[in-house]
Amino acid sequence: MVITDRFTGTAVLLTGAGSGIGRATAVRLVAEGAHVFAVDADEAGLAGTVDAVSGAGHIVAHVADVSDEAAVVAAVDAAVADLGALDVLVNVAGIHRTTPIERLTVDDLRTLFDVNVVGTALFCREALRHLPEDGVIVNTASSSASHGNPFMTAYSATKGAVLAFSLSLASEVIGRGVRVLVVSPGSTATPLTAAVRFEGLDPAYYARIVSPMGTGKPEQIASTIAFAASRDASYLTGVDLRVDGGSHI
Ligand code: NAP
Repeated sequence: MVITDRFTGTAVLLTGAGSGIGRATAVRLVAEGAHVFAVDADEAGLAGTVDAVSGAGHIVAHVADVSDEAAVVAAVDAAVADLGALDVLVNVAGIHRTTPIERLTVDDLRTLFDVNVVGTALFCREALRHLPEDGVIVNTASSSASHGNPFMTAYSATKGAVLAFSLSLASEVIGRGVRVLVVSPGSTATPLTAAVRFEGLDPAYYARIVSPMGTGKPEQIASTIAFAASRDASYLTGVDLRVDGGSHI
C-alpha cells in the first residue's frame, strides 16, 4: 500500500468510522495527515478505531445516530467546532438486511432507508453549509445499486437511492466547485458481511458473486475513498467508483 500525505491538515467528517470500511478509511486518512471527526452509533467501535489510529494523528470520536436529524445537525456543528473547518465529508455508515420478498416488512424498509438514505442526505445537507469551494463529498453505495442480488431488494433500493441522490447533488453543487462522488464496494470482508445470511439460497450462489480476485478488504475500499476525496481526483465528480474486483464485468 502506498501512503502519501494528500490530506495534511484536511478536516474530514467520516461516518461509520467504528467498524469495517469506515475504520479502515479513518486509519488511511489519518495516516495521510487528515484531521478526522469520526461518527458512529457504536461507541466501543469508535474506541477501537481510535486505538487502530494509535496516536498517528488527530481523530475525535463522536457517538451519533445518522438517521436522527437533530443528532446530525449537532454532529456537523461539533465537527466544525473541533476541526475549525470542514473540507471533506465521507458517508460510510450503513446497515444491511437480507429478506425474501414475501417477508419484507414496512419496518425493514423504513429502517434501511432511514439509516442508508436519510442519514447520508442529512449529512450532505448540513456539511454543505461549511464545505469550501474545493470541498468533497464521498458517499458509499454498493455494487448492488446497479446489479441484482436475491434477497437484497430493500438494501439494494437504498443503495440505488444513495447513488441517484449523489449524482443529482453533484450536478447541483458543481457550480460552486464542490465534488460529489460515490464509492460502491462489492463484497468486502467486514462485520456487516459476516452477519449476512442467504437463507434458502444455494451457497454456491454467493461464491459466484464474489470476485475471482477474492473478497475485498476494507483497506481496498478505503484507498479508493481516499483517492476520491483527494486532489488526485480533482476532475472527477458525479461518478460511481465500483470497487468489486471485477465481480460484475
Ligand atoms: P460495518 O462493519 O457494519 O460498519 C458500519 C458501521 O456503521 C458500524 O459501526 C455501524 O454501527 C454503523 N452504523 C450503522 N447504523 C448507524 C447509524 N444509524 N448511525 C451511526 N452509525 C451507524 O459495515 P461495512 O461493511 O464497513 O459497511 C460500510 C458501508 O459500506 C455501508 O454503507 C455498507 O452498506 C457499504 N457496503 C458494504 C459492503 C460489504 O461487503 N461490506 C458492500 C457494499 C457496500 P453498528 O455496528 O452499531 O450498527
